[in-house]
Amino acid sequence: MRFLLTGGAGFIGSHLADRLLAGGHDVAVLDNLSTGSIDNIAHLKGRPGFGYAIDSITNEPLLAEMIDRADVVFHLAAAVGVKLIVERPVQTIETNVHGAEVVLRHANKKQKLVVIASTSEVYGKSQEVPFREDADLVLGATTRHRWAYACSKLIDEFLALAYWKEYSLPIVIVRLFNTVGPRQTGRYGMVLPRFVRQALGGEPITVYGDGTQSRSFTSVTDVVDALAALVEEPRAVGQVFNIGSTHEIRILDLASRVRTLTGSRSEIRLVPYEEAYEAGFEDMPRRVPDIRRIHDLIGFTPRVALDDIIRMVIEHQRA
Ligand code: UDP
Repeated sequence: MRFLLTGGAGFIGSHLADRLLAGGHDVAVLDNLSTGSIDNIAHLKGRPGFGYAIDSITNEPLLAEMIDRADVVFHLAAAVGVKLIVERPVQTIETNVHGAEVVLRHANKKQKLVVIASTSEVYGKSQEVPFREDADLVLGATTRHRWAYACSKLIDEFLALAYWKEYSLPIVIVRLFNTVGPRQTGRYGMVLPRFVRQALGGEPITVYGDGTQSRSFTSVTDVVDALAALVEEPRAVGQVFNIGSTHEIRILDLASRVRTLTGSRSEIRLVPYEEAYEAGFEDMPRRVPDIRRIHDLIGFTPRVALDDIIRMVIEHQRA
C-alpha cells in the first residue's frame, strides 16, 4: 500500500515510516520540520518507495496531490509537548484544529482512509483509571492553557467521527499514551529524553511537583506495530482506540531508574510546577489506558519493557 504520513519527520512518524517500509509499503512524508527533524528521516533518503516534501499541511494543493497518490493517510502533524503548548497556545490550537480540518476535507474528496493521532491527554484530570475510550472526559478551565491541547485534539476526533457519520469517510482514531524511544527530543518538555540527557550530563534530574504523578510509558516500536496492524483491520474503521502500556510508574521512580541505568550520580531535584511551567499549572495525577478494545480487535499487547526502552534512549543519546 501507499501511505502518506503528515508529520512523518517527527519522532513517531519516522518510526512509522521505518515500520511501513520494512513491511514492503511505499511511504511519502509531508512535514514542515516545525518540531520534526530531517535527521529522523535522513537514513531513508534514496530508499526505493520513500519520498518526502518539506512543506506545511496548509499547502493545500500539495496536500491534495499527496493524498491523491496515497491509499492511507496517517495524520500525525500536530503541536507536541506540554512546554510548547503552554508557551505557544495560539499555534497549538491553530495547528491542531486547522491541520485535521484540511486533511479530512481533502481525504474525503477521494475517500481515503485517515488515521487521526489523538492523545491520552483528552482524559484530562479524570480519576477513573484505567481510561476507557467511551469514558467521560474531565478537562480544566479554559484559562489553563494546557487543556487547549486536549480540547483541540478532541475537536479533531469529533470532526473525524462526523466525516465518518455524514460522508462515510473511513477514519480511525488513536489515543497515544506517553510514547517514548530513540529520536524523541526533550526540547518540547517530554520527560524521558530530558531525564536521560540530564543524567548523562551530570546535571540535576528535574522532577516536577512531588513526583508522585504517574504515567504509562509505551515503546514507539509497540505503537507503530499497532498502527500498522489497525489499518489492515476493516473493523477498526469509525472507532477510537487507546494505544499504550498498562505498566504504570511514578515520575520520581522513573528518575531513579534513569539514574541507575545511566550510572549517573546526578541529584534528583524536585521543581515546583509553577517554576517548570506557569502559575496554576495542572498536571494529571495518573494516566493508564484500558487496552481491551485494541487487544480484542488485533491482539495488541505492549512488548517492550520500560527498562529496555530507557536503555535504548540512553544508547541513542550517547551516540
Ligand atoms: N516532568 C518532570 N520533569 C521534566 C519533564 C516532565 O517531572 O523535566 C513530568 C511532567 O510534569 C509530567 C510527566 O513528567 O507529570 C510526563 O511529562 P511529559 O511532558 O513527558 O508528558 P505528559 O504526560 O505530561 O503529556
